Amino acid sequence: MYQITVEQHFDAAHFLRGYHGKCEATHGHRFLVIVTLQAKTLDEIGMAYDFTVLKRQVSEIIGRFDHVCLNDVPPFDKVNPSSENIASVVFNELQIKLADASATITRTEVWETPQNRAAYIPD
Ligand SMILES: [Zn+2]
Repeated sequence: MYQITVEQHFDAAHFLRGYHGKCEATHGHRFLVIVTLQAKTLDEIGMAYDFTVLKRQVSEIIGRFDHVCLNDVPPFDKVNPSSENIASVVFNELQIKLADASATITRTEVWETPQNRAAYIPD
C-alpha cells in the first residue's frame, strides 16, 4: 500500500454556535488541511497519485473558505465550523472528485493551531 499526503492552508474567521467559552466569539485561524490518499498500485511512471492534481483539487474545495467568516459560507452557515466538521466536509467533497481515480482518500486532518487538530477517518 502506498500513501501520499499533501498540506494546504486557508485563513478564516469562525465562531462556534452553542459553545460556552472563548470560541463562541468570532476569531481567526490559519487552518492547515492535511489530506492522505492511498493506492495499492502505482501508475506507469511510479506515482500513486499526482501531487499537483491533488493540491489543485484540495484548493478547489478550500478556496471558498479563504479570508471569509466560515459561518457565512455553506455548509457552515448551518453546520458548526468546527475543525472536525471542516475535516469531514473536505473528505466528502474530495471523495467525489476522486470517484474515477485509482487512489482513495483515507484521512483528512484540520489543524487550527500547532497544538490542536482534528481528523476525519470514516468507519
Ligand atoms: Zn477556532
